[in-house]
Amino acid sequence: MAETTTQLKYFKEKHIAYIKDLGEKTDELEYWLSEHLRMNGLYWGLTALALMGSVDTLDRADVIAYVKSCQHTSSGGFGASPSHDAHLLSTLSALQILVILDAVDTVDEAGILRYVRGLQDSTSGAIYGDSYGESDTRFVYIAFQILSILGELNSNHPQFSVEKSVDFIMACANLDGGFGMVPGAESHAAQIFTALGALTISNQMHRVDKDLLSWWLCERQLPCGGLNGRPEKLPDVCYSWWVVSSLAMLGRVHWIDGAKLTEFILEAQDEEAGGIADRKGDQTDVFHTLFGTAGLSLLGYEGLEEINPVYCLPNSVMHRVRQPPATN
Ligand SMILES: [Zn+2]
Repeated sequence: MAETTTQLKYFKEKHIAYIKDLGEKTDELEYWLSEHLRMNGLYWGLTALALMGSVDTLDRADVIAYVKSCQHTSSGGFGASPSHDAHLLSTLSALQILVILDAVDTVDEAGILRYVRGLQDSTSGAIYGDSYGESDTRFVYIAFQILSILGELNSNHPQFSVEKSVDFIMACANLDGGFGMVPGAESHAAQIFTALGALTISNQMHRVDKDLLSWWLCERQLPCGGLNGRPEKLPDVCYSWWVVSSLAMLGRVHWIDGAKLTEFILEAQDEEAGGIADRKGDQTDVFHTLFGTAGLSLLGYEGLEEINPVYCLPNSVMHRVRQPPATN
């Protein structure tokens, strides 16, 4: 693909410098204010660097040491930083970082499995994000991805029922073809990504009305080329990931205008300081830098490594996932 006619280009060197800089600003207030997102931020930055073929920008030993320092010996889960409680979000980010760096076996894998299995509601199949009990479709996807990476997605483990969690995902399906955060909630592109990710990993995609859902996803593209997350909302670069990865799992990336979306993403770059924003003219951040880059990768943008639409990991490291989906 990448048959874009845009004059803009992807400022790879600027983005590499931008991400490198983020890790070095540890004396600035902004760094401490984002402590609750530290592990996620590290994953976003490292994955973006990996897509740019520049994973060595961050010191491998330092990153692994940091990730290891965030695992709680008691629960087995990872916090966003050493002083934070364990959460499923930071546990997946930690594991994804370790997959990219080929260092999964340096942490307590049995602890991770114990932590993830302990977060399933044995009645509804819902998964909690942490011990405080918030649950939604995201956490099923995360639990499935973790179990898949570790090769433990067994259909009948005594402490974890894949089937029940798949049923929970299907209970979040709506008549428009989409999925909401919890049963009865409106369809939202980010929730659709997590639902499809969970169904792909568990080999249950046959339960989705592919055409109906693909239409809903295509309707997210606005005349400016950008995508929104649900009707009547502003376009945002991160939906280049949530929507296009969903279309990739449905085999229908070509249903949207890739050239116009490419242009929308490239326009949201900061040409001077590097980084990508949610849309043109806004402040850049590492979250949108990853998901803008990942969106371009899905669209086949030249010079970027391929990303896996299900795991949000570079395809080049997917062989380290011990139990990948049967067909993908
Ligand atoms: Zn966004």
